[in-house]
Amino acid sequence: MNYFITSDKKDCCSCGVCAQVCPKKCITYEKDECGIPYPVVNKEECINCKKCEKACPLINAESLKQNTCEKSYALILDDEKKRAESSSGGAFSAIMDAVCDDNTYIYGAEMSGCSVVHSEASNIEEAGKFKKSKYIKSDTLGIWHSIKDRVESGSKVLFSGTPCQVAALKSFLGKDYDNLFTVELVCHGVPGQALFDSFVRGVEKKYKNKVKTVKMRIKDGKGDFYVSEIVFENGRTKALKTWQNPWMLAYSKKVMFMDSCYSCVFASEKRTADLTIGDLWGGEKLGEEWEFEKGVSLVLANTVKGQAVIDNFTGVKIKDYDFADAIKRNPNLVAPTKCNNNSVKAFRSSAVGDFIGTCKKNKYMFNAKIGRLLRFLPAPLRNKLKKIAKA
Ligand SMILES: Cc1cc2nc3c(=O)[nH]c(=O)nc-3n(C[C@H](O)[C@H](O)[C@H](O)COP(=O)(O)OP(=O)(O)OC[C@H]3O[C@@H](n4cnc5c(N)ncnc54)[C@H](O)[C@@H]3O)c2cc1C
Ligand code: SF4
Ligand code: SF4
Ligand code: SF4
Repeated sequence: MNYFITSDKKDCCSCGVCAQVCPKKCITYEKDECGIPYPVVNKEECINCKKCEKACPLINAESLKQNTCEKSYALILDDEKKRAESSSGGAFSAIMDAVCDDNTYIYGAEMSGCSVVHSEASNIEEAGKFKKSKYIKSDTLGIWHSIKDRVESGSKVLFSGTPCQVAALKSFLGKDYDNLFTVELVCHGVPGQALFDSFVRGVEKKYKNKVKTVKMRIKDGKGDFYVSEIVFENGRTKALKTWQNPWMLAYSKKVMFMDSCYSCVFASEKRTADLTIGDLWGGEKLGEEWEFEKGVSLVLANTVKGQAVIDNFTGVKIKDYDFADAIKRNPNLVAPTKCNNNSVKAFRSSAVGDFIGTCKKNKYMFNAKIGRLLRFLPAPLRNKLKKIAKA
């Protein structure tokens, strides 16, 4: 698994660490058709020092995954407003509250216009921009040195991102620091920016209006956790429920992730970060008082430092939750998303040109609409129709 030998995209998670450690500055990035930047080495300038390989999180994945889940929890915030602003039950907010003091820098993924980038916030209020899952690969290419400067200057640093991004940070730093706290998401996979740009172009064409930004992962409070709000430049907004939303429907079909996601080495019981957070699917069993339809978080303590953060939580309802049960409903905790190569290739190549058209051709919206209508029919009739459709 060495991208510098194989040039196979499954061996690179596009973190940007290699260019930042190269003493000759001879690594640049070229985007593939989906908008994922991959490294290109200028062989004439390369002095073969191998620093890029030594810092690559995929080449060194096994040594970076040194932790295992010691304890797992269900969590919701007491504060209804903050819970509503969060993707799941608000674990990330609880972590910020427990970790941050006046000298803490927080890193996470923010939506900047219609692109996702990793950036810094110097307080919890500013870090509000990191709330909500953005189902697009975030750009981390230029961020690593600034995080190192913060950690080495003695400030507390709280870094959040996908497991490969946490691994990239750890690999870049080369050692652990007491003042560094890392949080990784349970991760399905990420699509490239060019696919999202194509989706946005389709929306602009349909509504004859320029898109300013898209807010993802809005909860309707009735069990739809994936509503998106399109914000147009003229101030108008359009809410798309999951069944109407080409982006989230294609995401759920698992046809548009970057190649390394389909063989993700970090989807494993061996973890990299101090804490892992995700959705607690199956949390209905916790009891009505947990109000599952408002979102419940799963939190894993993978290190002593991670457990100390959890012990410091305030303003939350928290309960032990069986890790084996969590895995049953959240398979990406221990295994990568399965890939059907042909559907992925076919979808990605045509979606780059016309994302919404490709979703229509694949009947994603049509099938979602039928599925939704079927839900209103009595179960025997619904099952009969399903059998007819399958025959
Ligand atoms: C691409 C993606 C795939 C996911 N897949 C799963 C899954 O399979 N199973 C599961 O249980 N949970 C998954 N999650 C995590 C889940 O959606 C929530 O993000 C998580 O539970 C945190 O919710 P919260 O209420 O604690 O945080 P919030 O307050 O909403 O905070 C969101 C956190 O996610 C980070 N983040 C948002 N978008 C990105 C991004 N594009 N790249 C890196 N970091 C980002 C922010 O920095 C912040 O730390 C995924 C999230 C993303 C972004
Ligand atoms: S081997 Fe050294 S000089 Fe060559 S690309 Fe890698 S880091 Fe740069
Ligand atoms: S360091 Fe990051 S960008 Fe460079 S090859 Fe490895 S995974 Fe890819
Ligand atoms: S699935 Fe794996 S490789 Fe893909 S973004 Fe998530 S952690 Fe990174």
